Amino acid sequence: MSTYRAPLRDMQFVLRELAGVDEITKLPGYEDSGDVIDAILEEASTFATEVLDPLNQSGDKEGCTWNNGEVTTPKGFKEAYKAFAQAGWIGLPVSTEHGGQALPQLLLGPTLEMWNGANVGFANGPLLNQGAIEAIELAGTEELKHRYIPKLVSGEWMGTMCLTEPQAGSDLAAVRSTAQPEGDHYRIKGQKIFITFGEHDMAPNIIHLVLARLPDAPLGTKGISMFIVPKVLVNDDGSLGERNDVHCAGIEHKMGINANPTCTLNYGENGVGAIGYLVGEPNRGLEYMFVMMNAARFSVGVQGLAIADRAYQHAVEYAKERIQFRDAASRDPQAVAIIKHPDVRRMLLSCKSQIEAMRALAYVTAASLDYSVKSADEAVRKEHKAFVELMIPIVKGWCTETAQEVCSTALQVFGGMGYIEETGIAQQYRDVRITTIYEGTTGIQGLDLIGRKLVRDMGASATKVLKQIGSFAKELAGSSNAEVAALAGPLGDATKALGETAQWLGMNAMGDLRKAFACSVPFLKFFGIVAGGWQLFRGAKIAAEKIAAGDNDPYYAAKIQTATFYAHHVLTQYAFLQKQITEGSGDVMAGSDDMFDVERRALATA
Ligand SMILES: Cc1cc2nc3c(=O)[nH]c(=O)nc-3n(C[C@H](O)[C@H](O)[C@H](O)COP(=O)(O)OP(=O)(O)OC[C@H]3O[C@@H](n4cnc5c(N)ncnc54)[C@H](O)[C@@H]3O)c2cc1C
Repeated sequence: MSTYRAPLRDMQFVLRELAGVDEITKLPGYEDSGDVIDAILEEASTFATEVLDPLNQSGDKEGCTWNNGEVTTPKGFKEAYKAFAQAGWIGLPVSTEHGGQALPQLLLGPTLEMWNGANVGFANGPLLNQGAIEAIELAGTEELKHRYIPKLVSGEWMGTMCLTEPQAGSDLAAVRSTAQPEGDHYRIKGQKIFITFGEHDMAPNIIHLVLARLPDAPLGTKGISMFIVPKVLVNDDGSLGERNDVHCAGIEHKMGINANPTCTLNYGENGVGAIGYLVGEPNRGLEYMFVMMNAARFSVGVQGLAIADRAYQHAVEYAKERIQFRDAASRDPQAVAIIKHPDVRRMLLSCKSQIEAMRALAYVTAASLDYSVKSADEAVRKEHKAFVELMIPIVKGWCTETAQEVCSTALQVFGGMGYIEETGIAQQYRDVRITTIYEGTTGIQGLDLIGRKLVRDMGASATKVLKQIGSFAKELAGSSNAEVAALAGPLGDATKALGETAQWLGMNAMGDLRKAFACSVPFLKFFGIVAGGWQLFRGAKIAAEKIAAGDNDPYYAAKIQTATFYAHHVLTQYAFLQKQITEGSGDVMAGSDDMFDVERRALATA
């Protein structure tokens, strides 16, 4: 059976040495948080291991059930959510004014990773709840904030994000749900699909954040507003009143994350419409969603990393136990554990190196998120904001795509047992699959990276980051540790190629946007492997300095070996990616739509 252990050593290293948590805790508003970081990590690790992990496999097996509009979650989930709330985990980044602890966003890196590594089905609840809290904090009136946020933070109620409709998935401009003004509130009508935790038994009230259109709203994205629609209406004194007209018509049968319900919600099917309250100004709903999207996309990127790490941990355990064949280079007839075989070793290192690169990039991005809002210096805030904007589609897109590969490789380490559900590794493979789809598919992240982040500022932010990576590669060359110095060449070459490719894309985007978009996902991957390598190699350089100073912790030698593997096995993909993009983009739109079914057409006309 699969079990989860939080990778505290690497988390601590990345937080302290790469993301600079000690500096973050000096930022205005975070001054009191420095002393509690270690305790929080320890406690989160205990909670993840002792409370969430034991429910992971049982939750997947049992799943959720729908009965006449009501949804029952797997055994133990309700109690776990209560314990999660009581321990204060929901309020970690929320302002103290609303009952939270106002701790740095950076802490969301390791804590989110632990919740999702231990039990992703459960972790989606707090993740969506956080989205609802942020939406109300961002745009709600003081009255809405005081009425809803404290109860979402205390865990008494839970929140959802209701964007998707049958005809409006990636393209939210197509949202059709309506909102008619009626006194101090609105009447909401329409259907939302795929709503995570849209109905359940874990809290007596569910606060839905819903996108809908006002009468005469402009067409497209500029005509969408945001509303709070509570499942149960809230009386003036804060107590629960009448049931609102929002009902769950069913839940989906999914390939993974079975422990949480994915719901179809009907609003106003019984008459005049569900009662809703406008959040922020009319027609600015999507704009608010975009502000919050950075945090939500970051969280799903970390979700991918977390599931990948769980799968890797499990594969290492198995590789140490499973005995097959003798060592290829030994005369000893005794069969050995498969971890001794070079190909298994390669698989494990491929997982380890990419996981550590993802973790480093994700946490460093979270640190920038903190600087972008908390630094007293406007120039610093601006610089970090630009970095975050550039990195979010990469953290979401690259981490979740890489996580697919890692989970698949980890499953391969199990041989036939990987394909058997009872081992547990198959669950990770199924669970991780959604991460490249929700919160914007990888295709949408690629569009965002090229269309919004690269083309819009004429490549200025990307050029700045690439310059930083280029100068760091030169620094590496000066390391007194030969292995670390050898990382300079691969990083310098890949960064130069990435710069050339970005320039090629920029030029082509001006002439033919379709051609520039044709390989937006390979470009996102290219940026991810270079940026992840940059952060992993920063870790290797620091590890070499610790070793030179006499620190014998084997973690440091392993960090350097891991980085060297990454340089040769992952970063080298740059040459292929550069060719694919610059030589292959033109092929993508060259044919007509008919080319995809010439066989069938030929048969039909025969
Ligand atoms: C388990 C689960 C939980 C979910 N939870 C929630 C939730 O809580 N709240 C919520 O509102 N939604 C939720 N969703 C919905 C989810 O966000 C959408 O499924 C997702 O955004 C993709 O939309 P779609 O399914 O309509 O795919 P489509 O938009 O139809 O996309 C299909 C394919 O076309 C590609 N594509 C589309 N347009 C373009 C383009 N312009 N350029 C390039 N490629 C393009 C996409 O990348 C994708 O590969 C959930 C979905 C699932 C499956």
